[in-house]
Amino acid sequence: MVNNKSFYSPVTEFYVNLYVTYFCNLSCKHCLIGCNPRKSKKFLPIRDILFYMDEFKNDSKFSKSAVVNGGEATTPYFYNSMDYIPILNSELLNRNFEIEFHTNSVWAKSKKADIIWQDLKILADDVNNKHILDLSCDQYHKNLDGLHESFKVLSSPDFINKNLITKLLSFEGDPVIEKIQSEIKQKYPNLKIESKIDNQIIKTGEAAKNNIGIEVPFFEYGNEYRAMRYIWTDNSIAIGLHPDRTASIGTFYNEKRRVSYVNKDGTLKPWKQLYPQLVEKYINCFKEDKCNLFTQDELKRFLIPENHR
Ligand code: SF4
Repeated sequence: MVNNKSFYSPVTEFYVNLYVTYFCNLSCKHCLIGCNPRKSKKFLPIRDILFYMDEFKNDSKFSKSAVVNGGEATTPYFYNSMDYIPILNSELLNRNFEIEFHTNSVWAKSKKADIIWQDLKILADDVNNKHILDLSCDQYHKNLDGLHESFKVLSSPDFINKNLITKLLSFEGDPVIEKIQSEIKQKYPNLKIESKIDNQIIKTGEAAKNNIGIEVPFFEYGNEYRAMRYIWTDNSIAIGLHPDRTASIGTFYNEKRRVSYVNKDGTLKPWKQLYPQLVEKYINCFKEDKCNLFTQDELKRFLIPENHR
């Protein structure tokens, strides 16, 4: 179906989701990737990220938006290099990307907090783009001390009214988010903080073991479904780069849905080589999972241009 030798541009809009590591200092029961402190401290190599950033920047279908994610995205400060995140941020800023940094904020009470805030301040001070700091906030994260400390710092003159939008990520009906929202109103009335409430918890990894959330594959395809249905507005589909040097279309954490982005000779696959492989894998998984959110024709229409279907 797909000819790897010919490059084509997808109909969809993409953004990049960088899973810098699957290691996490927490082990939340609902973790959809099954992250915890026992996971390998393997990191997504910066040179790989930069290679793909340069590939993506030449493709008009890529939005200038990069999510820095994990596992815990601040892990490099503790187990890799103090320079990993600053270098990554500065390279993304040089390429005019908007950065969405996702963290559980436990580090805010650690000895390295000042350094991490200093690096986040660079994003807050960027006048060209709006960046986002996502803080996880729900009954499963054991991070209340980190959150409280974060609100204190984010309401200080270094951050207030700057270009760093703070979002609390939570779930509908979660008992912790409501409490936290009312605390913020009382204690930090000037702090503008958005709450992104996902309807349900995805049931994969630790979540599946703990029987929390709703069934995959329906929900896993849910994000793509929304993006494909409303692609002409502002939705887009993630291209994931993972610490084991694989890539995926969509928010897929399952290994069977990923493709190695490294050739046998050790070179990195150019986007025009990788994309058709990702599409093929995506469509095969979609069939295997018997997902009926959209039809095969719809899927092909969004992922493969007419002359290649
Ligand atoms: S949900 Fe987030 S904070 Fe919790 S274990 Fe998973 S990656 Fe870590």
